[in-house]
Amino acid sequence: MKAHYQSYIQEKKPQGSLFFAKVPGCVITAYRSGKVMFQGKAAEEEAGIWKGQKSAPATQWPPTQSGIYSPPEDIRKMSIIGSDEVGTGDYFGPITVAAVFIASTQLQELEQIGLKDSKVLKDWQIYDLAENVKPKVTYRLLTLDNPSYNRLQGKGMTQGKIKALLHNQALLQVTRLLEGTNYDGILIDQFAKPDLYFKYLSGQSTIVKEKVFFSTKAESVHLSVAAASIIARQSFLDAMEQLGDQTSFELPKGAGAAVDEAAARLIRDKGEESLWQFAKVHFSNTDKAKQKMNTPRQ
Ligand code: MG
Repeated sequence: MKAHYQSYIQEKKPQGSLFFAKVPGCVITAYRSGKVMFQGKAAEEEAGIWKGQKSAPATQWPPTQSGIYSPPEDIRKMSIIGSDEVGTGDYFGPITVAAVFIASTQLQELEQIGLKDSKVLKDWQIYDLAENVKPKVTYRLLTLDNPSYNRLQGKGMTQGKIKALLHNQALLQVTRLLEGTNYDGILIDQFAKPDLYFKYLSGQSTIVKEKVFFSTKAESVHLSVAAASIIARQSFLDAMEQLGDQTSFELPKGAGAAVDEAAARLIRDKGEESLWQFAKVHFSNTDKAKQKMNTPRQ
């Protein structure tokens, strides 16, 4: 296991541990006792690789293989299809995924209208920018609403797999729209290690895998991912507003205490089954909200 995580091992490790590794979305702590802890958004998927395994899974070895998925150094100036998703960490609202093609000849113009990493932008800026960018680019946007998400999750599909299927679908649709137009590569904002990403897609009839690169923080690696992030975010914000129109209060983003409070309020107003329409019901917020209902308020 240590060999498997070799390139992700951190220098500082907790007391009593053998190694401490960080992969996108998950930290792994292995203890001398034999216990291994997986923590973070992708913990379930990462731990899933090891279920029933006594040694490193064959598809994950050797780790040097993943080097082929690192973007080329000069990718910034290339014609790229980028993809990103929004809403995976939010209890309320859908998951939205966008894939956007930006040709090298468009980079300057898009930079001039202010296209950049969406993490530094306010909601209203996202909206304006998305409206400016959309007419200029070839893109596809997919939205997985809450009932559909809950159905897939209820059937045992992990969030990682759901994300991979959406990215693959959005990318596939853009490559089809581009028929005849040349592109240098595809850049996915990395949410799982490439091997795992493709494992999620096994069994799909068409898997986009030619010239595919992965990078964390990819929105700052190529403008196409920045654009995908902005278009997906605008759509997520729209959906949140529409859901909010059906409640007497604003639905908070994220998965914190304000979300527990809002979920409890929703249960009081509309009944527990209404969460299916508004939320990703498997998040622990559901239980926390129900606990709030059972505890008399002071
Ligand atoms: Mg992302």
